[in-house]
Amino acid sequence: MARPSRAPSFAGRPDSLGPVRALTLEQPEWTGHKDFVPPDMARPRETEPLPAESVDTLVIGGGVAGSCVAYWLAREGIEAMVLPGGESSTMLRLLDSTGLRAPLEAFVRTRPVLGTCAGLILLSREADRLPRPTFGAIDMTVERNGWGRQVHSFEDTIDAPTVARDLRGVFIRAPRIRRVGKGVEVFANYQGEPVGVRQGRVAAITFHPELTEDRRLHAWFVREVAGLIPAEAR
Ligand code: GLN
Repeated sequence: MARPSRAPSFAGRPDSLGPVRALTLEQPEWTGHKDFVPPDMARPRETEPLPAESVDTLVIGGGVAGSCVAYWLAREGIEAMVLPGGESSTMLRLLDSTGLRAPLEAFVRTRPVLGTCAGLILLSREADRLPRPTFGAIDMTVERNGWGRQVHSFEDTIDAPTVARDLRGVFIRAPRIRRVGKGVEVFANYQGEPVGVRQGRVAAITFHPELTEDRRLHAWFVREVAGLIPAEAR
């Protein structure tokens, strides 16, 4: 099925998609990943601020995961964005040093976004020990590395009845959500605490959905939050 195409809303771009460039910040290993060597991707050098209007697709962090998302977005055009996991302090520093904070914030203010793990931290109103302010797109307070160190990372079934049954969550140095504001809907819980939240067009989860084969959460985001048709239904 043909899919409507809409131009991204980055800083005054005209209403045409043009060549899509995807950027993945933080972890360079995508270049060597066997499945993902998209030719139209460029990784910015930290020292060269990028003109905002040259950015069509922006994926912050996440290494291979981020690259997968970037690849998908680069092929499909930009309707929505996933801010994947990574290291939120590094991601925020890089956003400033590359000049990408403003276009990313503009996107987050106007378009559907799913933040996962460090992406959730970026979207939160408050989080601890960060060098720069977060975006404040979801009214919540987050504790970084709330489950402990890398060795305390784990996988378990989470409770997200409106998304899918028996959804597995992979928690890697995951944040914990300590407070949610009145306007925030909790759609996923683990052991009685929120691990998935949504405020309007912006959703966020503390775990990594891309590390299992299960794409139901992504499909839910595309369909229910972004109001688009998931790839498998086209
Ligand atoms: N601990 C990381 C942070 O605070 C998040 C980890 C992740 O994204 N898997 O940014």
